[in-house]
Amino acid sequence: MASYTDDEFLTPSSSPRFDKIYRAGAITRYSGIYRCPVCSTEVASIKGHPLPGKDDHRHNNAIFGAPRWQLIVGTVEAEEKTTLLSVLRRRLGL
Ligand SMILES: [Zn+2]
Repeated sequence: MASYTDDEFLTPSSSPRFDKIYRAGAITRYSGIYRCPVCSTEVASIKGHPLPGKDDHRHNNAIFGAPRWQLIVGTVEAEEKTTLLSVLRRRLGL
C-alpha cells in the first residue's frame, strides 16, 4: 500500500482515471503510482512511458494471467491545476 507522511500533498479524487485497469506494457496515460490488482505490487510510471510488461512483473501468470495496472495515486496535470484554481477562485469569490 502506498504511504505518505503529509496529507497536505494529497487530495481525494473521484476522477474516472482511477477506475480503469490498464494492460501490462500499455503506454501510461497518467503519471502516478499504479497497483497490480492481483498481487498488490506498486510501481511508479510516467505519462508516455510503458507500464511494466508481463516479463517485467511476474506473479503466477499461469493462474492469474498477465499483470494489469490500476492508478492509485495520480499526479496533478497542468490542465487539472487550471481547473482546480478556477474552482477555488469561484469558491473564494475571486
Ligand atoms: Zn501482480
